[in-house]
Amino acid sequence: MPDVIVIGAGLAGLRAAVDLIAAGADVVVLEARDRVGGRVWSHHFADGQVAERGAEFIDGNHTEVLALAARFGLELTERDSTLDVEAALVDAAGRGVPYHLHASLIDDWQAWEAALEVLQPNEDFEYRTLATTMESLSLSALSRLVIGRDIRTEFMLPPEHVSQRFAAEIASRQIAGQRERHRIVGGNDRLATVLANELGDRVRLSTPVRSLDADTGAVALVTGEVLQAPAVVAAVPLPVLSRLWPQIPHGLSGVGYGIGGKISIQFERRIWRDYGRNGTVLSDRAWGHLWETTDDQVGDRGILTSLLSSHDGAAFAALPEGPDLLVRDIERLFPGAKGLAGERVHTDWTNDPYSLGTYTCFGPGQWKLAQAPLHSAHGQLWLAGEHADGFSGFMEGALRSGARVAAGVLTHSR
Ligand SMILES: Cc1cc2nc3c(=O)[nH]c(=O)nc-3n(C[C@H](O)[C@H](O)[C@H](O)COP(=O)(O)OP(=O)(O)OC[C@H]3O[C@@H](n4cnc5c(N)ncnc54)[C@H](O)[C@@H]3O)c2cc1C
Repeated sequence: MPDVIVIGAGLAGLRAAVDLIAAGADVVVLEARDRVGGRVWSHHFADGQVAERGAEFIDGNHTEVLALAARFGLELTERDSTLDVEAALVDAAGRGVPYHLHASLIDDWQAWEAALEVLQPNEDFEYRTLATTMESLSLSALSRLVIGRDIRTEFMLPPEHVSQRFAAEIASRQIAGQRERHRIVGGNDRLATVLANELGDRVRLSTPVRSLDADTGAVALVTGEVLQAPAVVAAVPLPVLSRLWPQIPHGLSGVGYGIGGKISIQFERRIWRDYGRNGTVLSDRAWGHLWETTDDQVGDRGILTSLLSSHDGAAFAALPEGPDLLVRDIERLFPGAKGLAGERVHTDWTNDPYSLGTYTCFGPGQWKLAQAPLHSAHGQLWLAGEHADGFSGFMEGALRSGARVAAGVLTHSR
């Protein structure tokens, strides 16, 4: 019998396992997929360019990610994520117009930022949503589109699903000028690979767990095999945990979860630059938000990535013809693009049985109910994963939660 069973070889599970073995524990990691990394999944194009199917950006204050990269000698790109309003397009009602030409947007955006600053991460803001914040401002129709898109990109759900408290929690962990500063050279999945290398054959790939028993520490595999340990770390997404653990507290099973996916398309050359654009488009179409993923990569070719967020985005992500539909709209925005479009990478996280969505988004009343069950042990069961940390929705949160849970298990077992 191992000392600890870790379910899930995403960043949270891998980090927990690495810390546990460093302290001498006997650990087995059970991973459903045939790869490690979970929602960190890089696609490597033939010419060496990379697109991220899941986690893409690293903030300058994501200290756990940065420390991990430094420890294993992974190089980081440097980028400027400030929105260039002259190079970005707003695509509304079939017309792509440069952002700065919409006079209302600049003023409304300032009003929106001022309204967000009022929100605080406390109970006073628990039950109201970002829809209420938007309604409190006299926004133009176009500003509602752009601000609504911004919310969907951040939270993967519409404004009425995002509690003001959660928005304030996330904002309190974001530093102006530090957001989306880096990617890992060669792909973010290298973060997972270096951790998995430390674990060797302790990671069992293609080993889906069917159910777990928090009281006994028994973990049943889909194959029928049952493993048992004095401590079990569940490092799977919350919607998946709800399926594995029938006794999950309702404060956890009810937590909101973003939906959507991504499409990345490689083009023979970066044709959007011919038009003086940087590839960023905020659209009223279901594909929502487009940007250039190769802004910090070399090569003539360039990759545009669409983040498919919220309900319309999730529906689009589920369409097999999604990439073709997206190419058609990119052609409308940047004539000539269609003939340059090459390999397409299409990811639907909502219908992926090992994710069942994108990442946590606490709705009204949910933060308060979830915190105690997220941070306590349940019999022999410990919970890790991005949902179990203040940096939820980020790789940083996953790593931090893994480290916290490993420390808890070690303290408890002494
Ligand atoms: C589209 C998208 C964009 C994102 N963008 C960013 C970004 O720009 N920056 C950022 O920092 N973060 C971003 N994230 C979030 C980031 O990817 C996650 O917060 C983080 O990777 C979560 O790690 P985790 O270990 O908690 O979960 P996961 O990575 O989901 O790991 C869970 C693991 O459990 C496994 N598993 C599931 N079910 C079972 C089972 N039954 N049995 C065994 N194993 C199972 C899964 O296969 C998986 O490997 C993004 C995510 C998505 C989806």
